[in-house]
Amino acid sequence: MNIAPAVFIYADSHNVQQEAIPDIIRGRPCQRNAVNRYMIRKNTEKKTENKGAAEGITYRLVRSRRRTLAMEIRDGELIVRAPLRCSGQDICSFIKAHRSWILKHMSRSEACRDAVQEYGALTEADIKRLKDEAGNVIPERVRHYADIMGVSYGRISIRSQSGRWGSCSAKGSLSFNCLLMMTPPEVLDSVVVHELCHLKEMNHSDRFYREVLKYYPDYHACHRWLKENGEVLIKRMKAGKSTNQENIAGNR
Ligand SMILES: [Zn+2]
Repeated sequence: MNIAPAVFIYADSHNVQQEAIPDIIRGRPCQRNAVNRYMIRKNTEKKTENKGAAEGITYRLVRSRRRTLAMEIRDGELIVRAPLRCSGQDICSFIKAHRSWILKHMSRSEACRDAVQEYGALTEADIKRLKDEAGNVIPERVRHYADIMGVSYGRISIRSQSGRWGSCSAKGSLSFNCLLMMTPPEVLDSVVVHELCHLKEMNHSDRFYREVLKYYPDYHACHRWLKENGEVLIKRMKAGKSTNQENIAGNR
């Protein structure tokens, strides 16, 4: 089977962390004959869930009225989504074809789950404290880099959204995730520079990244840090069921 791994981008293009949370792999439509296709249309059963195992990997099999096979890893568990009539052999082949992807991401997901358990959920009070702190720190960092870069910007918002580290609107409004207060200061600065560079280039072109590197040469190392550690922070926030309230932090 020729299956292209799909990266699930869970926020818009101005997202610093563009890696999948959770990662998802999608397959091509299952092999079925005309009779099976007819049966799928006629089948009144909507969804079934079972446990399965293949290649030494146990998984949760969710069958539904979908056309393609797909898999994702959530909290250390592999979930395979399959059409109602997809054969066990097709599912096995799908798992076999992605065995190394599954093992790699399972261990990452387990490590993330363990870290969330170890460090605990972020409570609403934690989020409020982080937002207050961010409201004091981030506008100053934005001002600092905007002066160096010679750009002017609009409103700054501090948010607690789960998928984005920062964003920049067409009108020049900037928003930042309060979780940045739990990252090293260099990582925070790299996100500030990333968003400010959108005031020059509203895309992620080579030219955009040349600008970013001009003002923040260590950008790649910081980006890597976020990719490796950001997921735990986001999951700790989600675990605390924080809301997506926004808080106006500053104007200019
Ligand atoms: Zn961006």
